[in-house]
Amino acid sequence: MKYVLVTGGAGYIGSYICKLFYDKGYIPVTFDNLSLGNKWSVKWGPLEVGELCSENDLQKLFEKYNFMGVIHLAALSNVSESVNNPSIYYKNNVIGSYNLIEKMIKFNVKNIVFSSTAAVYGNPIHSPICENHPTQPINPYGDSKLTIEKLICNYSKCHELNFVILRYFNVSGSDFSNNLGEAHLPETHLIPLALEAAHQNTIFKIYGDNYQTTDGTCIRDYIHVKDLGNVHLLSFEKLNSSKVNQIINVGGGKGYTVYEIIKYVKKITNLDLKTDVIKRRKGDPDILVSDISMSKNILSWEPEYSDVEQVISDSWEWYKYYKTLSQS
Ligand code: UDP
Repeated sequence: MKYVLVTGGAGYIGSYICKLFYDKGYIPVTFDNLSLGNKWSVKWGPLEVGELCSENDLQKLFEKYNFMGVIHLAALSNVSESVNNPSIYYKNNVIGSYNLIEKMIKFNVKNIVFSSTAAVYGNPIHSPICENHPTQPINPYGDSKLTIEKLICNYSKCHELNFVILRYFNVSGSDFSNNLGEAHLPETHLIPLALEAAHQNTIFKIYGDNYQTTDGTCIRDYIHVKDLGNVHLLSFEKLNSSKVNQIINVGGGKGYTVYEIIKYVKKITNLDLKTDVIKRRKGDPDILVSDISMSKNILSWEPEYSDVEQVISDSWEWYKYYKTLSQS
């Protein structure tokens, strides 16, 4: 049996990855504590409810399945929460990952694709950002991910650990034909919140317009969840055929300000969207845009769905579907 462990498989990105792996003949085993993920989104393989911080839960998991490898997504990922409560970020993200990797070594599971983040870069010195750009995270979330990256890199030097570390930029979009999309509680991300405000006719709050960018609002690089999923599959298959040990950016390679996203939201929804500028959110860098040459070179991957209008339009389709579902 081709079992692949997907930590965080009940989440927005994880559930899409499980579907993709299932379609390719793998059996994705979701390991999730369901604190942020949804049971309903685990449809393509078994769900094992447990905690990465529990050595015992992991022991039982690794005894039950003979994993080909691990896709490690489970983490807390809210930047401002991490600023206000760093302790849970170091505990869940760093200690949880340490436990997982120790179990991989113990059970001789060699391949890992790790979900990291552009937040490891902090405020970029140059843009677009390539992988050897200095890493100076400006929030505990980014720092927790960078710590795990270092752990993986160091372990791989003395154990047979073969890895791909994917540094995600801003993920959005949906696979609405398979009823998969963002359903965070609370929602904190720009695109779903702007769609919600347009639909509900409420005021969308922009966190600061005095950043060092063209219109003063932050610039981000948006990648469609379908493109992100494909990168995981390609990375995993590469790990199974060769030694990789690479850190790879995953983004669309283009940057958009918050105002530009709002303009597209209005266009796609055909609704008005009122905005108000409030003070900056803690921990937000001015600009994060990826250089994606590495993913092209190593994985022969190019984004297919990450045109920003396609990302927003797929998020909108999902929003309308999920809204109806949650109201019925
Ligand atoms: N943002 C905003 N209002 C919101 C949510 C987000 O102005 O209600 C801004 C946020 O400050 C950042 C950008 O939108 O500049 C993207 O934020 P998001 O939370 O989607 O992703 P992040 O870049 O923090 O991972």
